[in-house]
This record gives sequence, structure tokens and C-alpha cells, in this order.
Amino acid sequence: MDGVLEDADRETEVAGPPELPAGYPPVPEPLPLAGGAGAVDDHTHLDHLDDDAVERLLGAAAAAGVPRAVQIGCDAAARAWTDRAVRRWPQLLGGVAVHPNEAPDLARAGQLDAALAEVERLATTNDRIRVVGETGLDSFRTDWDDEAARRAQQTSFAAHIAIAKRTGATLQIHDRDAHAEVLDVLRAEGAPERVVFHCFSGDAAMARLCAENGWYLSIAGTVTFKSNHALREAVRAVPPVILQVETDAPYLTPVPHRGRPNGSHLVPLTVRVIASELRHDEDELVGILSQSSEYLYGQW
Ligand SMILES: [Zn+2]
Repeated sequence: MDGVLEDADRETEVAGPPELPAGYPPVPEPLPLAGGAGAVDDHTHLDHLDDDAVERLLGAAAAAGVPRAVQIGCDAAARAWTDRAVRRWPQLLGGVAVHPNEAPDLARAGQLDAALAEVERLATTNDRIRVVGETGLDSFRTDWDDEAARRAQQTSFAAHIAIAKRTGATLQIHDRDAHAEVLDVLRAEGAPERVVFHCFSGDAAMARLCAENGWYLSIAGTVTFKSNHALREAVRAVPPVILQVETDAPYLTPVPHRGRPNGSHLVPLTVRVIASELRHDEDELVGILSQSSEYLYGQW
């Protein structure tokens, strides 16, 4: 998503295990475990990697004080991968969905209903798939102005909300330049009990509105980008109990490693920026974040 090379790597590579796959930035100074299970990467994609790379990244994340992650699979192959991965790696919980960018094509091909049925089947049969998402609306798509394509995204989003309610899963929302429309659908359908805005990108007013509704904001590495004052302001506008932190790896790599692939081991860089914005110590913030993760996803 963010391919701009603009921050030079200033950290030196530390020798010794775990050895990261080629190209990944080094493990930063680890987060404190805050007397608990440590931080959770609320949203990551590992399904494009081979098993060896996954092992290494999970090892590096644990070394960084981030021993758990929510793996999101939102096309057919990634959903199947997620179903298998959460049984294999105890560090992972899963989320499954039809990505909003895929919904129009599936609808056109007459395959959207079958894909949604598969999402519900996985959320029902695998007790480590506890998230329905990422689902939502994406106005960045070139066919957003096409009425049928937009309707397919809305239909798919509404169907995911219904699946989350039926299965008791937490809903993770993808909202790309579609804040008002996403809120409209949520209100019209009625939100499920637990809602997270993945990679929250709204302003302070929207953050407050989410907080009033008890919806969670998952903050990605974008909060570390120098120009992103609006997101830091949004973070300051809400009680920290409704925050989560995520990578959306391999995308959205935090400063100072932009342009390189992201991984859960870089969560500390994002947590540190949030902690300094909130004037909390890291230890306290990690404790708050991990308690909220537990509320959202249960124990694992
Ligand atoms: Zn994602």
C-alpha cells in the first residue's frame, strides 16, 4: 500500500536468533509484557509467505513482545490458508471475509453468495476464527462510481454484519475513504456486539463517534508517518481502552522502515508513538491494549 522509500534505516541489525526472512527490518527494542501476555497485532496478513518465513516472523514478533496476532484472510485462498494456520500456530487467531475490493467482481460472476457462505462456514466450524473481516467499503476502487459495483460492496458488508451477529464473531471493518457510507451501513444494519475499525483513518470527530458507540479503533503504522497529524489527533481524542494496534503487514510499515516489508515484530514502533501521544508509559499502554484484545477476541 505504501511503497515510498523515504525513511533511512537507522537501526543496526542485531545478530542472533530469530533470523528474519530477507528484506525485513530488524527487531526493535522489545515491548514490556506488562505482567501479562504482551501485545497483540490486531490485523496482519501472513498467507503470502511460506511456512518457514511465518515461523521466523512469529519468532521475531515474540522476541519483540508481540507474541500473538490476528491473521486476516479475505480471498478464497487466504481464507483456506487462515483456517489451516490458526490450527497450526497457537500464536494466531483468524479472521475471514470477502474483501470489499473483491465483492463487485464476485457479484458480477454470480459467486458472491457462495463466498459469503464459505465465510460463515469457517467462522462457525473453526473456534479459532473469531473475526469476520476485513469487510466494509472502499471508494478507492476505480469502479466506485459504478452503481452496481458500489451496491455489491454494500450488500457484502451488510451480509458480513449479519454473519458476525449470527456467529458471535468480532467485526473488523475496512473503511477506505468511505467514512460516512460505512457509518450509514453500520447504523442501517445495526452493529454487532464487537466492532473494530481496522487501520482507522478517520478524524478526531469520527474517533469520538466510534468511542460513543463502543467501537474500537485499530491503529496501524500510519500513525508514525510524520505528516499524519490527523490520526495522532484522533488517537488523543478517545479513551485508550478502545484502541488496538496492528501492522496490516506486509503493508504500512512504520517509520523508520517505510518501503520495506512490515511484520508483527514492528508493532513496538507504533505502540511507542501512541504511548508518547497519550503520555502513557509503554508498560501501562501494553496492559490496556492486551486487555482490550481479550475483550474483543477472548483468550488464546
Ligand atoms: Zn488488511
